[in-house]
Amino acid sequence: MSEIEREAMEYDVVIVGAGPAGLSAAIRLKQLDADLNVVVLEKGSEVGAHILSGAVLDPCGLDKLMPDWKEKGAPLNVPVREDNFYMLGEAGEVRIPNFPMPPLMNNHGNYIVSMGNVCRWMAEQAEELGVEIFPGMACSELVYGDKGEIKGVVAGVFGLEADGSYGPGTEPGMELHGKYVFLSEGVRGSLSKEVIERYGLSDGKEPQKFGVGMKEIWEIDPAKHKEGTVTHTMGWPLGSNAGGGSFVYHLDNNQVYVGFVVHLNYKNPHLFPYMEFQRFKHHPMIADLLKGGKRVAYGARAISEGGYQSMPQMVAPGVALLGCSVGMVNVPRIKGNHNAMLSGIAAAEAAERAIKAGRASDELHDYEDEVRKGEIGKDLKKVRNVKPLWSKFGLTASLTLGGFDMWFQTLTGGFSLFGSLKHGKTDAAATEPASVHKPIDYPKPDGVLSFDRLTNVSFSFTNHEESQPPHLQLADTSVPIGNNLPMYDEPAQRYCPAGVYEVVEKEGKKEFVVNFQNCVHCKTCDIKDPAQNITWACPQGGEGPNYPNM
Ligand SMILES: Cc1cc2nc3c(=O)[nH]c(=O)nc-3n(C[C@H](O)[C@H](O)[C@H](O)COP(=O)(O)OP(=O)(O)OC[C@H]3O[C@@H](n4cnc5c(N)ncnc54)[C@H](O)[C@@H]3O)c2cc1C
Repeated sequence: MSEIEREAMEYDVVIVGAGPAGLSAAIRLKQLDADLNVVVLEKGSEVGAHILSGAVLDPCGLDKLMPDWKEKGAPLNVPVREDNFYMLGEAGEVRIPNFPMPPLMNNHGNYIVSMGNVCRWMAEQAEELGVEIFPGMACSELVYGDKGEIKGVVAGVFGLEADGSYGPGTEPGMELHGKYVFLSEGVRGSLSKEVIERYGLSDGKEPQKFGVGMKEIWEIDPAKHKEGTVTHTMGWPLGSNAGGGSFVYHLDNNQVYVGFVVHLNYKNPHLFPYMEFQRFKHHPMIADLLKGGKRVAYGARAISEGGYQSMPQMVAPGVALLGCSVGMVNVPRIKGNHNAMLSGIAAAEAAERAIKAGRASDELHDYEDEVRKGEIGKDLKKVRNVKPLWSKFGLTASLTLGGFDMWFQTLTGGFSLFGSLKHGKTDAAATEPASVHKPIDYPKPDGVLSFDRLTNVSFSFTNHEESQPPHLQLADTSVPIGNNLPMYDEPAQRYCPAGVYEVVEKEGKKEFVVNFQNCVHCKTCDIKDPAQNITWACPQGGEGPNYPNM
């Protein structure tokens, strides 16, 4: 598509993605210098439409960005009042008392929020400062300069024909050039992936690790609702099949976020993360809470879990990778929004200094130094061994050893007896042949507490124009049936939380069907396909989920 003539617009900083990282960067740039030209491009139909993390927010990032956020009406209305942690068995639960938990696990001072609404509010603050924000504008390509530097992005391509060619209704989009381009696409960003590969930014680092997070919003019986309560569980139903656990956050208005994360390094390709989530809701403790309520929204998104040792280099000529584009989630805390915000601030400060000094399109090393050595690095470094311990020794040992390690580091100012443990394999490579694992029998959803995938997907309000090229691209179309089916029972049928992938039989032959219209942009397929044959490319803007207040 490089021969297409496009209009170009020049900016000081072009920001891809209106999540907490991108919006924090935009706000800080304008706070530092009101004359800077800053644009934010967002693929969702509106800011917040693709933000899934119904979240416990540590406000430290917001405090640094806008200390007067309360006066400015930020939607942080539900302080955490109660923090519970349970180990589940099939028929019961054991509460783990709070006192042995390392202090960093304490949610005192944090808020239960809709991050979609926080981002909507942040976008208003940014626009008041003069940031240009364009929702419904997917950035589908990077624009490279003569010296191989990144000089901008292509955004706003609409109406391609199904084979990817230009037709009468095609709008070619435009190029947005910047002295610096910030990629704040969140986990497994498509442009970020290209940058990481092209510049070898992950060389010498541990592989990035991921989970798939699924979430429903429920309106429950007011008598059972306890605003400000945070509950985390581990154990049943995953047992030793996979790492992961649940979260249940009581927001206001009798709403509850019910979520479930499955670590994607599971070995058994028969595992069905979505059905594990549905089964979880039948645990007596959860079933009792939800009985009489109704599910009003559903969504899914990958979550980064590699932590400190997996963060790639974050800068290359002309570009900086922010937030979960490099993976900044503190895994035991299940929190990344605060670090996303802090990274936006750090990138903005580095870019503003560089532009003031007359620089452009070079590497913002100050930004990377600040991330690794500043607040973000400190937050992530002390939990760096929790995930590898869990992967190696399972849940119980990791709770003991990981808990010990976090306490030890807290008491010694960051020293660990384990050093820095490695993750080893990618999640795709962790998948083992179906023949060495037993199939798992999942109960049928009852339509009251648990739902089939397609019914739930309709509650993500996702849509994609059918006549465009599929944005889920197979490098080799023969792999799913020729390789993945005999070897792994084609796990795409199960790992996708939106039912995009099916194996069907037509005239006695197996066929692989990609229902890309259902995609909720979680990126699990791009991560977990054992053959690494699926690429998630950015579809045209305004498509994908339309999360209300996730
Ligand atoms: C189930 C789940 C629960 C979580 N719970 C918590 C929690 O309780 N607390 C917490 O702090 N963190 C939580 N997290 C982690 C948190 O969501 C991330 O750390 C955070 O979203 C990272 O912010 P970000 O700005 O880097 O990316 P994102 O929030 O993912 O934002 C990226 C934005 O960029 C847009 N975008 C992506 N690619 C393009 C493109 N090519 N063109 C245009 N736009 C693009 C996306 O649509 C999106 O709006 C959770 C994550 C999950 C999945």
